[in-house]
Amino acid sequence: SKGAAMVTAVALRVQAQRKQIDKLLALFRLTHEHLVGVRDKMRAELEYGLKKTTHPMATVKMLPTYVYGIPDGTENGKFLALDLGGTNFRVLLVKIKRGRKSVQMYSKIFAIPLEIMQGTGEELFDHIVQCISDFLDYMGLKGAHLPLGFTFSFPCRQMSIDKGVLIKWTKGFKATDCENEDVVEMLREAIKRRNEFDLDIVALINDTVGTMMTCAYEDPSCEIGLIAGTGSNACYMEEMRNIELMKENKGKMCINTEWGGFGDNGCIDDIQTQYDREVDEGSLNQGKQRYEKMTSGMYLGEIVRQILIDLTRQGLLFHGKVSERLQTRGIFETKFLSQIESDRLALLQVRGILQQLGLDSTCEDSIVVKEVCGAVSRRAAQLCGAGLAAIVEKRREDQGLESLKITVGVDGTLYKLHPHFSRVLQETVKELAPQCNVTFMLSEDGSGKGAALITAVAKRLQQSQKE
Ligand code: BGC
Ligand code: MG
Repeated sequence: SKGAAMVTAVALRVQAQRKQIDKLLALFRLTHEHLVGVRDKMRAELEYGLKKTTHPMATVKMLPTYVYGIPDGTENGKFLALDLGGTNFRVLLVKIKRGRKSVQMYSKIFAIPLEIMQGTGEELFDHIVQCISDFLDYMGLKGAHLPLGFTFSFPCRQMSIDKGVLIKWTKGFKATDCENEDVVEMLREAIKRRNEFDLDIVALINDTVGTMMTCAYEDPSCEIGLIAGTGSNACYMEEMRNIELMKENKGKMCINTEWGGFGDNGCIDDIQTQYDREVDEGSLNQGKQRYEKMTSGMYLGEIVRQILIDLTRQGLLFHGKVSERLQTRGIFETKFLSQIESDRLALLQVRGILQQLGLDSTCEDSIVVKEVCGAVSRRAAQLCGAGLAAIVEKRREDQGLESLKITVGVDGTLYKLHPHFSRVLQETVKELAPQCNVTFMLSEDGSGKGAALITAVAKRLQQSQKE
């Protein structure tokens, strides 16, 4: 009959559409072999970054941090910490009590307006100093001459613990006249320009290092720091003898890998999709930070958006109509991805979230959107896990161990908020580094507490050198 024929036609169409969607999502499915490949390439890039001859061209920069050891519990005093480079700018006062392992913190969050993130360097640093001034007023500390740790979450080539040149902005920042400049000096000059208070800037710190130190304060086997947030990066304690840029051969130093740049030489082009390339083209730093663009919060939503646009163009979503909203960059923040993928959420609620984002969806649409988010975030967690597997395996081999027990301190919105990211990441590390027993430790406010701890250690060393 006619009716039955129509039903069959609809069923066939649904089947064909399903095939198209599956074909697209398959691009994001990584096999065990893919992941082993990523782990091994990451391992090779780590080595290039450490070797003198290959370091200048290395895409994973392996930057010395001048952090030699973890806290020993004798740290003491009051410190200021700044945290720039994540979702917010924060100023903190941190009080550390010797031996107590208890830390008190007071902090204030400030927004960094887009026009400041992307204005001039002077404006950016003047704004930072303005925020510090507000905070000191608020805490009644204007006259105090406190030691300060500056957590600056961008790649810096450090010459010492308190001196470092910004190599290149990443994420949403592009203030002018900062690249190739010493950012500690820029901060000092901005403080001088304001001529209102004096601070003793003791340490420049990457957020991964702060995170590692915070966790190491409680668990000395923590020798790796990982950020899976707006950006993606890891640091770890490396044998001095392997760091060819440093003359000394004894002991260890923390290396900021800046692994976000992995793939910038094309070595993972084989797993990149057209959507990754579109995200790259729409970014502030084209061709750069390719691994970061596949693994971090600032970009995952953008990958999702590019896929949804394509599916819509193919007539598989949103009635085939690409709305203006869908064409707007940045609409899918990490928190929305996390909500959409939450298992507790009914599809109706997924539709509600899409509605909030200005996207009118049918029930079928919401199923597809959820699948797309899942594919993108799963790949991100697996890639991040493959990178981490490379680091723990390197640590195991370097120490000549059959098996290694090690703790990773972790921070970042993606790791903390996303319902599946942390689990998939951990499973992947287990799969790719079976001889390592890796414990993940959430860092409570690594950028603040860790900065203070590093500042305390640096201050102690400074003083013992003077004596
Ligand atoms: C930066 C790293 C930072 C990471 C996480 C990346 O974009 O290059 O220095 O650690 O983001 O914040
Ligand atoms: Mg941060």
